[in-house]
Amino acid sequence: MRSSHHPEFTPAPVDGPILVTGGGGFIGGHLAAALRDEGHSVRAVDRKPLHEWYQVLRRVENVQADLSQADACRDAVRGVSTVYNLAADMGGMGFIETHKAECMLSVLINTHMLMAAREAGIRRYFFSSSACVYAADKQTNAEVVALREADAYPAMPEDGYGWEKLFSERMCRHFSEDYGIVTRVARYHNVYGPNGTFDGGREKAPAAICRKVIEAKMSGDHSIEIWGDGHQTRSFMYIDDCVEGTRRLMGSEVAAPVNLGSSELVSINQLVDIVEDIAGLRLQRRYLLDAPKGVRGRNSDNTLIQELLGWEPSISLRNGLEATYRWIHDQIAGGRADQALETAAAAE
Ligand code: NAD
Repeated sequence: MRSSHHPEFTPAPVDGPILVTGGGGFIGGHLAAALRDEGHSVRAVDRKPLHEWYQVLRRVENVQADLSQADACRDAVRGVSTVYNLAADMGGMGFIETHKAECMLSVLINTHMLMAAREAGIRRYFFSSSACVYAADKQTNAEVVALREADAYPAMPEDGYGWEKLFSERMCRHFSEDYGIVTRVARYHNVYGPNGTFDGGREKAPAAICRKVIEAKMSGDHSIEIWGDGHQTRSFMYIDDCVEGTRRLMGSEVAAPVNLGSSELVSINQLVDIVEDIAGLRLQRRYLLDAPKGVRGRNSDNTLIQELLGWEPSISLRNGLEATYRWIHDQIAGGRADQALETAAAAE
């Protein structure tokens, strides 16, 4: 699915293979596929064994390595010119509110990757930051004022995960200022789409709700559990917009962190409404008020990305959710292993 009405962009100058870390994950897998399809030579690295990768892409060098280790980072950057660092221990609210130390340990990945990139003379380095860097006191109301980049300071980010992202953003900035590496930083806001986590505890709201609706439909038990009161608000960006925005930012001259998110704000109840429409049924809602729910409201202010890149995400939530729902439905109905093989073949 492509976003429309936007100018073409100039990809970053690349004169050697590209490294995508977290290539076995959701966004890294899609990014590696897009770069390969543009004709680049791509190395994808992830800690997970290959059979757990969402996409094992042909014509990509797929490597299993733990990038929290300095030596593994040195090996990973060998011979490459450009790094997209997407590896991190992450998940939805259910994960990041209960695994704060694990989330903060992702600092080892970005630290060792930056050090290895500097040693190897890497030209461009991308870091995937998050809307979780924004100060909590600016997100207490469901009727949100969208977050501008400046709202990250004075700092009071999401505990654990958000602090690590904010620290690593600054490390990128200082490696750039002190050592001359060109760094680009996107603050992703809730990305969703096919080939991502939809069960197991790390899934985020759109995938979790698609899965719950599909399970309710299949089981005949037409009820759904919703975390919180359903009035909390968010925006959700479809994966194709995320990959395109990441490529545009990497090709730009924009050194400061930039929001990369949709500005289509919905409540969790509205998100459930859309998924119910797609499934063609209505469910009885049970609200779990003690479940992890994160900040009360959050949206992406896209003034800066529009000003700097002349572009912003534009794929509608309804369209993106249809594709996501179909993929999760196929996974649950058809078994995940068979599907992963088909995905790899289809990607050819
Ligand atoms: P993901 O969990 O699907 O992918 C991350 C990958 O990193 C996983 O496959 C994991 O195995 C790998 N990884 C973790 N530790 C590693 C290590 N030590 N060495 C090598 N690989 C390791 O998550 P994603 O949604 O694809 O997120 C990609 C990046 O974008 C992450 O940095 C994440 O924090 C950031 N981000 C994502 C979202 C979102 O909504 N998905 C929002 C904001 C920021």
